[in-house]
Amino acid sequence: MKKENRINAMNNTFNIQANSLPIDTLSILPSVYSGMLEHLRTHYPNEGCGILLRDKRSNEHHFHIFEPIPNTDQHPQQRFYLEPSVYIRLLFRYPEAAWDRILVHSHPLTSAAISHEDISGWVETQALWTGWLVVSFEDGLDKPSFSYYTKL
Ligand SMILES: [Zn+2]
Repeated sequence: MKKENRINAMNNTFNIQANSLPIDTLSILPSVYSGMLEHLRTHYPNEGCGILLRDKRSNEHHFHIFEPIPNTDQHPQQRFYLEPSVYIRLLFRYPEAAWDRILVHSHPLTSAAISHEDISGWVETQALWTGWLVVSFEDGLDKPSFSYYTKL
Protein backbone atom coordinates (compact mmCIF):
# COMPACT_ATOMS: atom_id res chain seq x y z
CA MET A 1 0.00 0.00 0.00
CA LYS A 2 1.44 3.33 -1.01
CA LYS A 3 0.27 6.44 0.71
CA GLU A 4 0.95 9.78 -0.79
CA ASN A 5 0.87 12.97 1.16
CA ARG A 6 1.51 16.35 -0.30
CA ILE A 7 2.44 18.57 2.55
CA ASN A 8 2.72 22.30 2.40
CA ALA A 9 5.24 23.37 4.98
CA MET A 10 6.28 26.80 6.20
CA ASN A 11 3.71 28.99 4.45
CA ASN A 12 4.47 27.97 0.88
CA THR A 13 8.16 28.71 1.19
CA PHE A 14 8.62 25.27 -0.30
CA ASN A 15 6.58 22.25 -1.19
CA ILE A 16 7.67 18.79 -0.28
CA GLN A 17 6.15 15.58 -1.47
CA ALA A 18 6.52 12.84 1.08
CA ASN A 19 5.91 9.39 -0.36
CA SER A 20 5.55 6.69 2.21
CA LEU A 21 6.97 3.34 1.06
CA PRO A 22 6.02 -0.07 2.46
CA ILE A 23 8.15 -1.29 5.37
CA ASP A 24 9.18 -4.34 3.33
CA THR A 25 11.06 -1.93 1.08
CA LEU A 26 13.55 -2.05 3.91
CA SER A 27 15.61 -5.09 4.67
CA ILE A 28 16.55 -5.11 8.34
CA LEU A 29 18.45 -7.87 10.13
CA PRO A 30 15.85 -9.54 12.41
CA SER A 31 17.87 -9.11 15.61
CA VAL A 32 18.45 -5.44 14.77
CA TYR A 33 14.76 -4.95 14.02
CA SER A 34 13.89 -6.47 17.43
CA GLY A 35 16.45 -4.34 19.21
CA MET A 36 15.16 -1.19 17.53
CA LEU A 37 11.55 -1.92 18.58
CA GLU A 38 12.71 -2.75 22.10
CA HIS A 39 14.50 0.60 22.34
CA LEU A 40 11.45 2.50 21.08
CA ARG A 41 9.11 0.63 23.46
CA THR A 42 11.40 1.34 26.40
CA HIS A 43 10.90 5.06 25.85
CA TYR A 44 7.13 4.89 25.50
CA PRO A 45 5.16 7.16 25.98
CA ASN A 46 8.00 9.39 24.81
CA GLU A 47 9.23 9.43 21.25
CA GLY A 48 12.29 7.22 20.85
CA CYS A 49 15.02 7.84 18.27
CA GLY A 50 17.96 6.21 16.59
CA ILE A 51 19.76 5.46 13.36
CA LEU A 52 19.60 2.32 11.21
CA LEU A 53 22.85 1.68 9.37
CA ARG A 54 24.08 -0.36 6.42
CA ASP A 55 27.68 -0.52 5.36
CA LYS A 56 27.85 0.48 1.68
CA ARG A 57 31.23 -1.20 1.25
CA SER A 58 30.08 -4.67 2.25
CA ASN A 59 27.73 -6.97 0.37
CA GLU A 60 25.33 -6.59 3.27
CA HIS A 61 21.75 -6.29 2.05
CA HIS A 62 20.28 -5.79 5.47
CA PHE A 63 20.46 -2.76 7.65
CA HIS A 64 22.57 -4.46 10.29
CA ILE A 65 23.20 -1.87 13.02
CA PHE A 66 20.80 0.20 15.12
CA GLU A 67 22.27 3.01 17.20
CA PRO A 68 19.90 4.57 19.76
CA ILE A 69 20.00 8.32 20.35
CA PRO A 70 18.50 10.02 23.44
CA ASN A 71 15.53 12.31 22.81
CA THR A 72 16.25 15.44 24.83
CA ASP A 73 13.29 17.51 23.65
CA GLN A 74 11.45 19.40 26.41
CA HIS A 75 8.21 17.81 25.16
CA PRO A 76 9.41 14.31 24.31
CA GLN A 77 5.89 12.90 24.05
CA GLN A 78 5.17 15.02 20.97
CA ARG A 79 8.56 15.81 19.49
CA PHE A 80 12.13 14.70 19.35
CA TYR A 81 15.45 16.45 19.61
CA LEU A 82 18.52 14.31 18.99
CA GLU A 83 21.01 14.66 21.84
CA PRO A 84 23.89 16.40 20.01
CA SER A 85 26.74 14.81 21.98
CA VAL A 86 25.57 11.38 20.82
CA TYR A 87 24.18 12.31 17.42
CA ILE A 88 27.25 14.19 16.17
CA ARG A 89 29.58 11.44 17.29
CA LEU A 90 27.52 8.86 15.38
CA LEU A 91 27.55 10.94 12.20
CA PHE A 92 31.33 10.95 12.33
CA ARG A 93 31.58 7.28 13.19
CA TYR A 94 29.30 6.33 10.28
CA PRO A 95 30.09 8.83 7.50
CA GLU A 96 27.57 9.20 4.70
CA ALA A 97 30.16 8.18 2.09
CA ALA A 98 30.40 4.70 3.56
CA TRP A 99 27.03 4.17 5.26
CA ASP A 100 23.36 4.21 4.37
CA ARG A 101 21.73 5.98 7.31
CA ILE A 102 18.03 5.96 8.17
CA LEU A 103 16.73 8.23 10.87
CA VAL A 104 14.22 6.37 13.04
CA HIS A 105 11.75 7.85 15.50
CA SER A 106 8.55 6.67 17.11
CA HIS A 107 5.06 8.14 17.36
CA PRO A 108 3.80 6.68 20.66
CA LEU A 109 0.16 7.70 20.31
CA THR A 110 -0.33 8.92 16.75
CA SER A 111 -0.15 7.38 13.30
CA ALA A 112 3.09 6.68 11.47
CA ALA A 113 2.46 9.51 9.02
CA ILE A 114 5.23 12.07 9.06
CA SER A 115 4.18 15.24 10.92
CA HIS A 116 4.53 18.83 9.77
CA GLU A 117 7.23 19.34 12.35
CA ASP A 118 9.02 16.24 11.09
CA ILE A 119 8.91 17.62 7.55
CA SER A 120 10.68 20.79 8.65
CA GLY A 121 13.37 18.79 10.41
CA TRP A 122 13.73 16.54 7.43
CA VAL A 123 14.18 19.42 5.00
CA GLU A 124 16.90 20.88 7.19
CA THR A 125 18.83 17.61 7.46
CA GLN A 126 17.88 15.90 4.21
CA ALA A 127 21.44 15.50 2.94
CA LEU A 128 22.30 13.35 5.96
CA TRP A 129 19.75 10.57 5.44
CA THR A 130 18.94 7.77 3.06
CA GLY A 131 15.43 7.99 4.45
CA TRP A 132 13.21 8.42 7.49
CA LEU A 133 11.42 5.61 9.29
CA VAL A 134 8.50 6.46 11.58
CA VAL A 135 7.26 3.73 13.93
CA SER A 136 3.78 4.15 15.38
CA PHE A 137 2.41 2.44 18.51
CA GLU A 138 -1.07 3.91 18.21
CA ASP A 139 -2.54 0.38 18.00
CA GLY A 140 -0.46 -0.84 20.94
CA LEU A 141 3.14 -1.62 21.82
CA ASP A 142 2.79 -5.09 20.33
CA LYS A 143 1.28 -3.77 17.08
CA PRO A 144 3.76 -1.32 15.58
CA SER A 145 3.01 0.24 12.21
CA PHE A 146 5.50 1.93 9.95
CA SER A 147 6.01 4.65 7.40
CA TYR A 148 9.24 4.85 5.47
CA TYR A 149 10.10 7.95 3.49
CA THR A 150 12.98 8.49 1.13
CA LYS A 151 14.47 11.74 0.00
CA LEU A 152 12.98 13.55 -2.92
ZN1 LIG B 1 7.41 12.55 14.17
